[in-house]
Amino acid sequence: MRVTLCEVGPRDGLQNEPESLAPGVRAELIDRLAAAGLARVEAVSFVRDDRVPQMAGAEEVVAAIERRADTEYSGLVLNERGFERFRAAGLERVNATFAATESFNRANGNASLEEALARVDAILALADVPATVTISVCFGCPFEGPVDPGRVAELAARFTGRAEVVLADTIGVATPSRVRALVERTGAEGFHGHNTRNTGYANCLAALDAGARVLDASVGGLGGCPYAPRATGNVATEDLVYLLEGEGIETGVDLDALVGVSAWLEGLLGRTLEGYVYRAGSWPSSSSS
Ligand code: MG
Repeated sequence: MRVTLCEVGPRDGLQNEPESLAPGVRAELIDRLAAAGLARVEAVSFVRDDRVPQMAGAEEVVAAIERRADTEYSGLVLNERGFERFRAAGLERVNATFAATESFNRANGNASLEEALARVDAILALADVPATVTISVCFGCPFEGPVDPGRVAELAARFTGRAEVVLADTIGVATPSRVRALVERTGAEGFHGHNTRNTGYANCLAALDAGARVLDASVGGLGGCPYAPRATGNVATEDLVYLLEGEGIETGVDLDALVGVSAWLEGLLGRTLEGYVYRAGSWPSSSSS
């Protein structure tokens, strides 16, 4: 089995960290990740610089990337204005997103659920490249609690056939049987897991069991948990690669190279990251083999 890992560190990861890295540094991070063999990298978000300073200078980042033929570079777009910037920048996949609950859309996107769906529809209507629709808070919402799987299934069905659908456990509350059931029910192509309550990696395996073939992950586990300030967020890409490769699932990633990216990031940010494998080292180690 082979899976497509979507590296979200440069976008979802950095957007949820306190530091703002310069565009040139973010481009270097993307280049290092692509060189480690990541099949897809979510590079930037086309949002207002004053609203999300961590994502400022998206065009500069894209212009500075050294594109590799075997990596697909994607960008997050929230509305038609963002899509025009995306198109001008020339990335290969557009990611649009909305939340499964009314309250989360209002808190996070200043829109009702219907308005958020209309924005995604408008982006898909403009898209002339492959598109991904990420549905956030599919398993639990910080405002509304547990989310009805039937509601998520209805929302996912609106986009089936028009875009790759990714189910996100945005606040990290899901457990494997729930992930398996919802991926099966929706036929979603992908899963975005958070390790907030230490179930993220088990949930990724459950998503694959249920037929998903795209997994989001963030180098070093970059990116905190929205609405849980002291908690961890995204699953760490190198930890997921170690797990998947050990289980005989191909990722195309050079684990030692990826561990090197996390070590570089640790030095850059001046603190220990969330991931385990970059600290423990890969095994068996390449130096002793
Ligand atoms: Mg995330």
